[in-house]
Amino acid sequence: MIYRFTCIVCPLGCSIEVEMENGEVLGVTGHTCPRGMEWAIEEVTNPRRVVMSVVPVEGGALPTVSVKTAEPVPKEKIPELMKFLAKLKLKAPVNVGQVVAEWEGIKIVATRGA
Ligand code: SF4
Repeated sequence: MIYRFTCIVCPLGCSIEVEMENGEVLGVTGHTCPRGMEWAIEEVTNPRRVVMSVVPVEGGALPTVSVKTAEPVPKEKIPELMKFLAKLKLKAPVNVGQVVAEWEGIKIVATRGA
């Protein structure tokens, strides 16, 4: 099977193809640099995403604050993470860049203050 992607690692946006068979990568074409090849292989073998969300804040100037994971999370774990984030409630003050929670060793960081 051949997977086709537009690389998102840099603005060049190379069209990359990854050929897979029985869970093994047979070849990668279309990349211009090693970073793109690594990204494409990870995209077919273990896709990850930085997750962003909004959580409520008690006692702040704003009722909510935006947050994101400090590192990419395996895609299959995102629904579980979203359940955790849905239960999260913060207390003011919250500062930009503050680690407001941790989930399975992954830091959740505020991207806005409240
Ligand atoms: S393959 Fe390399 S040069 Fe091409 S978009 Fe990806 S990172 Fe950029």
